[in-house]
Amino acid sequence: MTYSHHVPRKRFGQHFLSDQAIIQRIIAALNPKPDQHLVEIGPGQGALTVPLLKHIKQLEVVELDRDLIPELERRTHGALTIYSADALTFDFGSIKKDERQLRIVGNLPYNISTPLIFHLLTFASIVSDMLFMLQKEVAERLAAAPDTDDYGRLSVMVQYHCEVEVLFDVPPEAFYPPPQVQSSIIHLVPFKTLPCPAKDYLLFESIVKNAFGQRRKTLRNSLRHLVSDDIWQQINISSNLRAENLSVQDFVSIANACARISS
Ligand code: SAH
Repeated sequence: MTYSHHVPRKRFGQHFLSDQAIIQRIIAALNPKPDQHLVEIGPGQGALTVPLLKHIKQLEVVELDRDLIPELERRTHGALTIYSADALTFDFGSIKKDERQLRIVGNLPYNISTPLIFHLLTFASIVSDMLFMLQKEVAERLAAAPDTDDYGRLSVMVQYHCEVEVLFDVPPEAFYPPPQVQSSIIHLVPFKTLPCPAKDYLLFESIVKNAFGQRRKTLRNSLRHLVSDDIWQQINISSNLRAENLSVQDFVSIANACARISS
């Protein structure tokens, strides 16, 4: 396979998978079944797309770089529905046509992986799972536990919605061109029933954002405008702690105590 006519574009985060063993390992981890509703983000030159089509009847892909699309169409003979669009603003809800939940897969463009994951979380209720190639460092942040440096807003918001599992690492040599960083495959499974639901989701989001916006400060200070002394007294969480010391459950408890007062 040669694609000498396409020069990988940095601004689209293009690092094409070229290691066949890694490609097969990703497909085995995904374990696609013929009738599932699978969506791939950033098919690129089809490194995952083409082998996926051997397992699945119909596949939908979202690709931003229009120059890649003719070649992708040529290689996939009509079994593919291509959305020439930006995954960051794509309405994944609009492609759910029946009772099947979406499975989402992709070797994500690293430059937009964090905002893209935040965007995808808004569709968590219609998604059965997501399998992504990410920068190892981002994968570690998604899976991080409290009291670690990697733990932050991304960890809390993802773990609120999903079970997170880092599956395996992928070295730079598996791609063309090789990225500067190590990569990891991560599996995110949205909870069918949220383990600790927030009564007011926007308030919960805003508490998490503010707490980590000033992560070196105590919660009393970083959340001064959102959480009063009264609330701190009612709940069993010390306002002398910092954002990184709190579990997802703790953030929800704070938000729910505030929601109770305001409702
Ligand atoms: N899946 C391919 C390509 C991965 S590189 C492979 O593994 O070889 C990342 C891909 O995402 C590229 O095809 C790039 O053009 C595409 N991309 C970049 N930004 C995007 C965006 N905002 N929305 C959709 N696709 C995007």
